[in-house]
Amino acid sequence: MSDYDPNNIFARILRGELPCAKVFEDDHVLAFNDIHPQAPVHVLVIPKGAYISLDDFGARASDTEIAALFRAVATIARQLEIDVSGYRFLANHGTNAHQEVPHFHVHLFGGRKLGPMLSRKTTE
Ligand code: 5GP
Repeated sequence: MSDYDPNNIFARILRGELPCAKVFEDDHVLAFNDIHPQAPVHVLVIPKGAYISLDDFGARASDTEIAALFRAVATIARQLEIDVSGYRFLANHGTNAHQEVPHFHVHLFGGRKLGPMLSRKTTE
């Protein structure tokens, strides 16, 4: 786990060094609005533990932490009243997925029709 960068942006938000627009918090999870929203609802849901990506989270997180993250996503969706109209959650891992921030996070999108799951573009 030595590759985790403790100075990544989300680690700094977790430590209170940078502000965020918080929408949810419990013992294991923090969620806040994305700074560049791509939908009317665009929330980032992150574990409080130091995990680089889903690969790391899936390998090392406790069952309690994993359950907490999934429950938080569903709770936030109901809280923001997108549970009936529908939503998407997505996690980017690594280079091909364009992960920018190396602290595991789930994007929660909603509030409009979200279109097809993946862009048809195959190169970038
Ligand atoms: P990724 O590409 O790593 O899955 O997504 C990173 C997300 O973090 C992007 O959607 C980006 O807009 C968001 N982001 C980057 N820096 C900040 C920040 O300082 N605050 C917030 N709230 N979101 C950020």
